[in-house]
Amino acid sequence: MKYSASAIATLVACMTSTSSAFAPSAFGVVARTSLEMSTTADDAVDAAEQKKNKKQERLRMMGSEQFHRRGFKEVREDVEETMNGQFKSSLVDDLRTNNFVIERDGVKVHLAKDFGFCWGVERSIALAYEAVNHFPDKKVHITNELIHNPEVNDRLDDMNVQFIEKLGEGEKNFESVEDGDVVILPAFGASFEEMDYLDKKNVEIVDTTCPWVSKVWNTVDMHQKKGLTSVIHGKYGHEETVATTSFCEDYICVKNMKEAEMVADYIVNGGDKEAFMTYFKKASSEGFDPDTMLNKVGLANQTTMYKKETRAIGQLLQKAMMKKFGPVDAKSHYMEFDTICDATQERQDAVHELVENAESLNLDFILVIGGFDSSNTAHLLEIPHMAGVRSFHINKGDCITADNMITHRTVEGEMETEPLLLDMDKEIVMGVTSGASTPDAAVQDALSQIFLLKKVHTASNSD
Ligand code: SF4
Repeated sequence: MKYSASAIATLVACMTSTSSAFAPSAFGVVARTSLEMSTTADDAVDAAEQKKNKKQERLRMMGSEQFHRRGFKEVREDVEETMNGQFKSSLVDDLRTNNFVIERDGVKVHLAKDFGFCWGVERSIALAYEAVNHFPDKKVHITNELIHNPEVNDRLDDMNVQFIEKLGEGEKNFESVEDGDVVILPAFGASFEEMDYLDKKNVEIVDTTCPWVSKVWNTVDMHQKKGLTSVIHGKYGHEETVATTSFCEDYICVKNMKEAEMVADYIVNGGDKEAFMTYFKKASSEGFDPDTMLNKVGLANQTTMYKKETRAIGQLLQKAMMKKFGPVDAKSHYMEFDTICDATQERQDAVHELVENAESLNLDFILVIGGFDSSNTAHLLEIPHMAGVRSFHINKGDCITADNMITHRTVEGEMETEPLLLDMDKEIVMGVTSGASTPDAAVQDALSQIFLLKKVHTASNSD
């Protein structure tokens, strides 16, 4: 398996030690804990003070003996073996060693050069499994799905890990967590409010937050220090963005170019404040005032967004500041750091390559495999879709059925069912990729379904 505990420990150390701004922490959803924090005037003052010192608080919590970020060595070997058994695929290994191409049963498969589990996800699963093995007699909870993959979350369920109940509107019920329990924070992290609640609760916290996500939080910390409003390219309801915004003071989230254009237009021309705030109500910080808070902005993003779009949004905001403040002063009104993670970038580049060669390879379609909630997988689908290449996003092999139908999620987020192989008599040529939270075994399952379809068709024709 790609995961190597020592390599990852080194990388985490590098990412967390380059400056004091690179220290990991967590994010999540506004839990009932935040409501409790503001029930009295004293609490409100405490909350305001805490907001100013979130980073220091985060570091203090992480320094506690009950906060675990480095896993548990004594169970590491067993966990690696378990993960290999559960997630590896001999078919995908064959594809890798065969220059990413394989032919089987009348189907030719071109695998994207970068695909599947990223090191952040492997690290997160390994830490979660190690936690379960290290604390065999304790009740283990997790604040959210560990990653956006149904099989991985089912495995945790099988290991008796309790998923904290979601109450809707971003609230969760932590009542099942008792003193002495173990609570895992997922790869997307957990919100400041959740961390704070758990810190006071006397539980063992196992933090599996990907260091790339913490890097974004350090970026928004820097925005705060410099008096900038954070413009976050991300979906405001996504777990990662919920956590990121919990570490911000003033922020507004834009999920795409259209929303970024609305913000840029307001920066340059002002406009109907009420209509603007009605639109961005859920996507901005409490008390957000676009008339004053959009004068100095910094861009940050959800790590798994479509990188080209983040770049375009950055250019748009930069131009807006130039129009408003002139080319010389614009640079003190806009700041940008690239926080798209390498894994996201590499997987997007690899699909671009498949799409660019779709015609010369005679691709009938591209299959994208990954959880339906997985943002990075959804963005992989956008690339062939925008290029007009037939493509499907499925979350597991079962989406392809014996009657040659495929149930898939469109770029608009709708579920559709339609025939998969349009001409079963010819050789099928397909591209395949998978999201950063998708095990190789899921790719094998999906390909096996297609091999079987073609094999059965060929056999029935030769009878
Ligand atoms: S996709 Fe990137 S940010 Fe997300 S877990 Fe993987 S490495 Fe971390």
